[in-house]
Amino acid sequence: MTESYALNHHSYDVVVVGAGGSGLRATLGMAEQGLKTACISKVFPTRSHTVAAQGGIAASLSNMGPDHWQWHMYDTVKGSDWLGDTDAMEYLAREAPKAVYELEHYGVPFSRTEEGKIYQRPFGGHTTEFGEGPAVQRTCAAADRTGHAILHTLYGQSLKNNAEFYIEYFATDLIMSEDGQCQGVVAWKLDDGTMHVFNAKMVVLATGGYGRAYFSATSAHTCTGDGGGMVARAGLPLQDMEFVQFHPTGIYGSGCLITEGARGEGGYLTNSEGERFMERYAPQYKDLAPRDYVSRSMTMEIREGRGVGAEGDHIHLNLSHLPAEALAERLPGISESAKIFAGVDVTKEPIPVIPTVHYNMGGIPTNYWGEVLNPTKKDPTAIVPGLMAVGEAGCASVHGANRLGSNSLIDLVVFGRAAAIRAGQVVDADAPNPTLNKASIDNALGRFDGLRYANGDTPTAELRLEMQKTMQADAAVFRTSKTLAEGVEKMTAIAGKMGDLKVTDRSMVWNSDLMETLELTNLMPNALATIVGAEARQESRGAHAHEDFAERDDKKWRVHTVSRIEGSSVALDYRPVITDPLTTEDEGGISLKKIAPKARTF
Ligand SMILES: Cc1cc2nc3c(=O)[nH]c(=O)nc-3n(C[C@H](O)[C@H](O)[C@H](O)COP(=O)(O)OP(=O)(O)OC[C@H]3O[C@@H](n4cnc5c(N)ncnc54)[C@H](O)[C@@H]3O)c2cc1C
Repeated sequence: MTESYALNHHSYDVVVVGAGGSGLRATLGMAEQGLKTACISKVFPTRSHTVAAQGGIAASLSNMGPDHWQWHMYDTVKGSDWLGDTDAMEYLAREAPKAVYELEHYGVPFSRTEEGKIYQRPFGGHTTEFGEGPAVQRTCAAADRTGHAILHTLYGQSLKNNAEFYIEYFATDLIMSEDGQCQGVVAWKLDDGTMHVFNAKMVVLATGGYGRAYFSATSAHTCTGDGGGMVARAGLPLQDMEFVQFHPTGIYGSGCLITEGARGEGGYLTNSEGERFMERYAPQYKDLAPRDYVSRSMTMEIREGRGVGAEGDHIHLNLSHLPAEALAERLPGISESAKIFAGVDVTKEPIPVIPTVHYNMGGIPTNYWGEVLNPTKKDPTAIVPGLMAVGEAGCASVHGANRLGSNSLIDLVVFGRAAAIRAGQVVDADAPNPTLNKASIDNALGRFDGLRYANGDTPTAELRLEMQKTMQADAAVFRTSKTLAEGVEKMTAIAGKMGDLKVTDRSMVWNSDLMETLELTNLMPNALATIVGAEARQESRGAHAHEDFAERDDKKWRVHTVSRIEGSSVALDYRPVITDPLTTEDEGGISLKKIAPKARTF
């Protein structure tokens, strides 16, 4: 090591890394129970990507018409293309109404119906009567700023409950004991350059997704999969990484999101002939079919020469037929985004849109309590003591191969809450904190120092761009054996260049060069696992559309991909999908017959 680092020590019952919706809900739940809780975030809590969530949060409240949690569960199972874990999906749908009412009582300013109930809008893939009835209005919204409202409320409540915040601290690595227990994290304070060791009985990773592994994404520049990177370096696996969601309506050029709520409120897509083409692909639900379906249909239209614009390479989203008052009341934020990023007045013209990377279904494998799994052949549900993961960083897995719109915000609060409930059971506030493994801390500091003084020939931004372009081209909406094989080869070579990185700024204070380099060391294992997992999966399921294997193959491939990443190599294994729900039909649960795999049409 070039330098030695003075360490500031902190000791907590629970340390949550991440202050997005999931991290804050976990933090609040822990603190409410009297656990001494710290929340670490590399950005100010209310600037976490959750703040950008527009459309809303799904729960079967039945405020706009009949709905049931079993219908929500069925839609989630079908949406996942039968890759989600059934126990977790039941837990999500059942607990959703409770979690939303809690948010309401904490103070989230939801939009209201005439009678004063929480307003709900239709969203893709959410239906009635187990997919037999019309679309349901299940998505609770605070206009088109739902994430913003949730984040501010949860941050205020966490402070009220004495949770302690470490803001603009960058967690670099987990501290692991010799025998595989998580004991805390090492963090770098960005604004004064000090180094910190957090000792905890429970660490909760709530670090969000890794959309920035791609060139064009709706997610914030901070979405760099740091939790996944830390887990991979600790020798623990990531799950189902090949499933990356493309949102149908990113603004052409900027990638900025136009919420699915726009179609929920009556917007529709057209091609260069002015045709509402979704009627052909999804006769029943049309523009409200799930995202993977709509993104593929749009891509087909463009490929067949019916794209719009000078280069025929995008699609139109029409809102101008909707009453101007409805747009102003229900979709004010996206009207503004369309103006700023596409120069379009939505009351008069269509918005140019294109499928854009939006969400990572895969992540750190957990059970439905948020406990991180380290599956072995003998015990596919073995857990890592002292470690939890929630939110987009985690994979419970409720979204399987494709997430339904508005099912992420509910995932954040349901599983953030579940993690707190579980921690209340397994963390003993009176017990002493673990004795930290010094070797693990030294390891983390050595890695940090090595990157700080990295003196190769490849600037971080250059290698990052190579990775992003490769992922965009080769792990796209449609994939073939050829593009995937080329992608794996290219990505392996790109990851191989990590040892040749060049960092020019050696300072410790506000060193964005070093921070982006640390982020690249996290993006890389996430990206590698994505493309290697995709090449191996020889079927089409949810967001993974493989043109050489166009059918879903439940016999061989209804399994979770488990990847362990070391340097530029990925070792793949598989674990069974959990097919048993939590309750039987007799106990009021869903009928097994209802959720048995079948063809997925809309
Ligand atoms: C534009 C957009 C709109 C969306 N709209 C919806 C919607 O309407 N409905 C819906 O259900 N879903 C929506 N989604 C998806 C959903 O918003 C996200 O999946 C979700 O917000 C992720 O929340 P999170 O708590 O997992 O993490 P994030 O909100 O991404 O927060 C991550 C946190 O981790 C911290 N962090 C990360 N790395 C480190 C580190 N190394 N050290 C310290 N801190 C770290 C960050 O500072 C941040 O606080 C949308 C997503 C986007 C991008």
